[in-house]
Amino acid sequence: HMVATLLAVLSTFAKMADQNKERTFIMVKPDGVQRGLVGEIMKRFENRGYKLVACKMCTPTKAHLEEHYRDLKSKGFFAGLIEYMSSGPVVAMVWEGKEAVKMGRMMLGATNPLQSNPGTIRGDFCIDVGRNICHGSDSVESGKRESEHWFKDGEIQEWSPAQSKWVYE
Ligand code: ADP
Repeated sequence: HMVATLLAVLSTFAKMADQNKERTFIMVKPDGVQRGLVGEIMKRFENRGYKLVACKMCTPTKAHLEEHYRDLKSKGFFAGLIEYMSSGPVVAMVWEGKEAVKMGRMMLGATNPLQSNPGTIRGDFCIDVGRNICHGSDSVESGKRESEHWFKDGEIQEWSPAQSKWVYE
């Protein structure tokens, strides 16, 4: 009986720790880099308490982007999107924390910046849907798929921020 109770308590703690490990793939797009908004975007995730576990600057190839955006292949804006996204360097990142995917989307704002609330990244810094400065995964599964598409295993870091116990209860 005691053992069962102990196991239940341990599994509760394991689940709580797991919740805080959700990952989302966030990217500053070429227009965000050109406009000097890399620091601003990273700052918002840091300030919120999310943990940066991967980060790099690169100019993605069209093939890499076509795989990243494979669900949008049939859209009329697809060719323009690939052109825009491959036009210069981006900053690719993985952020980790409780409900990182949902909160990441909320912090980015709506896909169309004209529908993004002020206070969100898109709502504060851009206007056109084709120049919306940032990307964020739209589900936990795509967070995982996109993180693995942009980063190799060794490029994602496991680390414990000193502030964790002041961010999570
Ligand atoms: P999100 O990036 O918010 O997940 P989508 O996956 O629907 O949105 O679209 C991917 C990206 O394609 C958008 O962020 C935007 O840059 C571009 N896009 C979406 N819709 C349009 C559109 N109607 N015209 C031009 N570009 C678009």
